[in-house]
Amino acid sequence: TDADLLAAEYFRTGTLGGLPDRHFIDGQWQASASGDKMETFDPGLGRAFHSFAAGGQSDVEAAVEAARRALGGPWRRLRPEERGAILARAAALIRENSSRLSVIECLDSGKPLQEAESDVAGAARCFEFYAGAADKDIADSFPLGPDYLGYTVNEPVGVTAHIIPWNFPLSTIARGIAPALAVGCTVVAKPAEQTPLTALLLAEILLQAGLPAGVCNVVTGTGASAGVPLVSHRHVRHVTFTGSVPTGVAVMQAAARNITSVVLELGGKSPILVMADADLDAAVEGVLGGIYENAGQICSAGSRLVVERVVHAEMVGRLAARAQQITLGHGLRRPQIGPVNSLAQQNKIADYVNGAKSRGIVVAAGGSSATDAETGKGWFYRPTILDQVPAADAVIQEEIFGPVLSIQVVEGEDEAVAVANDTPFGLVAGIYTRDFARAHRMARDIDAGQIYINEYFAGGIQVPFGGNKMSGFGREKGMAALRSYSKIKSVAARIKD
Ligand code: NAD
Repeated sequence: TDADLLAAEYFRTGTLGGLPDRHFIDGQWQASASGDKMETFDPGLGRAFHSFAAGGQSDVEAAVEAARRALGGPWRRLRPEERGAILARAAALIRENSSRLSVIECLDSGKPLQEAESDVAGAARCFEFYAGAADKDIADSFPLGPDYLGYTVNEPVGVTAHIIPWNFPLSTIARGIAPALAVGCTVVAKPAEQTPLTALLLAEILLQAGLPAGVCNVVTGTGASAGVPLVSHRHVRHVTFTGSVPTGVAVMQAAARNITSVVLELGGKSPILVMADADLDAAVEGVLGGIYENAGQICSAGSRLVVERVVHAEMVGRLAARAQQITLGHGLRRPQIGPVNSLAQQNKIADYVNGAKSRGIVVAAGGSSATDAETGKGWFYRPTILDQVPAADAVIQEEIFGPVLSIQVVEGEDEAVAVANDTPFGLVAGIYTRDFARAHRMARDIDAGQIYINEYFAGGIQVPFGGNKMSGFGREKGMAALRSYSKIKSVAARIKD
C-alpha cells in the first residue's frame, strides 16, 4: 500500500520528503519572523526526524490579522451551502491523502498506524458532518403580536483560536475547526509542539478545497511562545482548548482579560463499571480497548475499572492474561500498542506506577518501561494493571495518561456509582450490565459528560462530547458544537404601518 511505501521510505532515509516546516498564514507557507526552528520526534525510535518553525508573538499577530481580514473578505459573502461544499471537498481530499496523513500522524505521535488511519477517517467524517450542518443551523422567531416581528440570527463569533494537544493532533483540530468554519468563523490553530505536522497539512488541504486564504491559519511552536499570545489576543473572540487542567486554567485566565469565550476539553479519570450481570466477554474487550488504545493517552481513556466483587477475580485474570500478550512496537509496524509520546510522558507514567508499588499496590500485569524489541529503542510502557487500589490513592484520583488500568472493587450498584463519581473529573463513564433499567439509572446518577453503555467509545461525530467538573465545560461534536462558534442576535421590530 501507499502507507507501506512511505513507511519503507522513512525506515530507509530517517525522514519523509515534503514535510511542512513553516507556519501556514494567509494561504502561504511562512517562516517564523525570528527564523527560529525546533525539532519534532519519532517516539518509536526516540529520535528527531524533522524540524519546523518555532513561532512567537509576531507570527501569531500575522495569523490573527489574516484571520481578521478574511472575516470581511469573500468568506463573508458565501452562502452556507457554499461553505458546506468547501468542507465536503476537504473531507474528500483528506480521504485521498489518507496514507500520507496517517503515516505522518503515526510518526509524529507514535500511535499505531491503524489507529492513525482511523483518526484520519474520523477527521474526514467530521468535515463531512459539518459540511451538511452549514445550512441547517436554523434560528428562532417569537410571537410578539400582530404588529411586531421577533427573530434571532446566528452570527459567527469571529476569529477563533484552537489549541491542540499531541494525543489526537488531527482529530482534535478537525473537530474544533470544522464547526467553526461551518458557521462562518475564521481560524488560527496552534498544534502541540510535539505533533505540529498534520495540522499544517490540513490547512493546506482546506485551501485546495476552496477555502479563501486567511480563513484557516496554523502557527506552530510552544505553548509559552505561540500559545500564550494567541489565547491572549484581543481580536480572538473564542478559544477552544484541549489539553491539561493546569494549562486550561491559564488559558481561561488569559481569555478572561478580553472577555473571550472558551470551551475547555481537559483531562479525565473515567471509570468503566462492570456489574455482575454483564456480558464479561464484551466487558473485557471494552476495558482493554478503553485503556490501551493510543497507549492510554486519551482524555476519555477508561483508566479505572470499577467491578462488582463477584466477578472481580475473573475480570482481573482475563484482563491480565490478555494485557501480557499485547505486542509493543514502532507505530509504522502496526503493533497492538505503540510508544508513548515522549520521554517525559514515559517518566511520568513510571513515577505513578513506582509510587503505587511503593504503597503496596498489587501489579497484576506490566509495571515497567520498555523499548521496541526489534531496535532496542523508543519510549514504551508495558500495558499495566494495578489491582484493588484504595479510592484515595493518586493512581485513582489523578490522570496518568498512559497504559495503566487501576481496579476498584465494589459491592453493588450504589457503591459503584459513588466510586465512579469520587474523583475531581467528570468526562466519561462506561457501564456494562444486561439490566436495561439499571444501566439507565446508573447513567442518570453518574456525573460525566458522556456515558457509554455496553460498548466503550461508542458513538460518533453526531454525539456531543465534553466534560463536567475539572474535565472542563462546553461541548464539541454534534450540532451542539455550532453554539460555541456563533452568537445569537435577536431582532424585535414594530412593523405597524
Ligand atoms: P498541555 O496542556 O500541556 O498542552 C496542550 C496544548 O496547549 C499544547 O498545544 C501546548 O503547546 C499548549 N499550551 C501550553 N501552555 C499554554 C498556555 N499557557 N497558553 C496557551 N497554550 C498553551 O497538554 P498536553 O500534555 O499536550 O495534553 C495532554 C492533556 O490533554 C491530558 O491531560 C489530556 O487529558 C488532555 N486532553 C483532553 C482531551 C479532551 O477532549 N478532554 C483530549 C485530548 C487531551
